[in-house]
Amino acid sequence: MTEFETHLIEIVPRTQCEVMIPVSSFRFKNQSDNHYQAGQYFVVNIEVEGNKYTHHFSFSTSPTETAEKGYIEFTTKLRNTDYKKALLKLKKGDSAILNAPFGRFIVEDVQKIGILTGGIGITAPRSICKYCTDTKLSTDIVLINSTHCENDLFFQEDFDKMQSLNPNLKVVYTLTHPTEAWKGYKGRINAELVKKEIPDYLERIFYLSGPVSMVTAMEELVLGLNVPKTQIKKEIFPRY
Ligand SMILES: Cc1cc2nc3c(=O)[nH]c(=O)nc-3n(C[C@H](O)[C@H](O)[C@H](O)COP(=O)(O)OP(=O)(O)OC[C@H]3O[C@@H](n4cnc5c(N)ncnc54)[C@H](O)[C@@H]3O)c2cc1C
Repeated sequence: MTEFETHLIEIVPRTQCEVMIPVSSFRFKNQSDNHYQAGQYFVVNIEVEGNKYTHHFSFSTSPTETAEKGYIEFTTKLRNTDYKKALLKLKKGDSAILNAPFGRFIVEDVQKIGILTGGIGITAPRSICKYCTDTKLSTDIVLINSTHCENDLFFQEDFDKMQSLNPNLKVVYTLTHPTEAWKGYKGRINAELVKKEIPDYLERIFYLSGPVSMVTAMEELVLGLNVPKTQIKKEIFPRY
């Protein structure tokens, strides 16, 4: 683990939903000796108007992108909390102290993965899928992602591109409040959807990430399908 001072390069808005809380990505310059693995997380310490704030965030970038583009990124819901209000006061060039990397939500010699997530929980899976795509890993991934509506989907273009490049990656969306034009799945992730889209689910390691309610529901779902606990990896985002 290293601690280093860096600065904000860019804030990237990710959603345009009028109902749901907006999501943005925050990009910081990487330091060359910070080597992380896809799916890990880091600690972001900022100081705004004399007050210090600390939160944990998964990398939404892959280390391959960081090596190429020189930044690391986290992605978050901009709720009306002290930390998020402070984040929004940051300007390009403002400094932050980062501690990185942490976490075991990583891909290690795993041949078949099922990822079940929703909303903000997509951050770490994006890092993992991007890494597997960029490095042409043979890891077979099926990702089921649930969000509110089309305008609340983010990273969709990235995933479309990854799927076009990676024959081992399948991304399935299900929306709880889609428009009438939506042709995909509707509603939350359930056992029927998992059985249909991941028929070999018993052979997979399941990666579950996001708010505690989401991860708990997904864990109950896969345990109910007789997937052993040893085949489940979790990354819980507390306080959502
Ligand atoms: C490994 C890891 C990875 C994460 N990755 C992401 C990510 O990629 N994106 C992301 O958005 N978030 C991620 N999180 C969660 C993130 O750290 C924040 O907790 C989350 O973004 C909520 O922050 P907030 O400022 O919106 O709410 P906060 O202000 O932190 O908290 C909101 C609510 O929680 C209550 N609360 C505050 N402190 C505590 C406490 N100590 N104990 C119990 N309740 C408390 C408050 O009363 C309030 O109601 C991750 C967390 C972990 C541990």
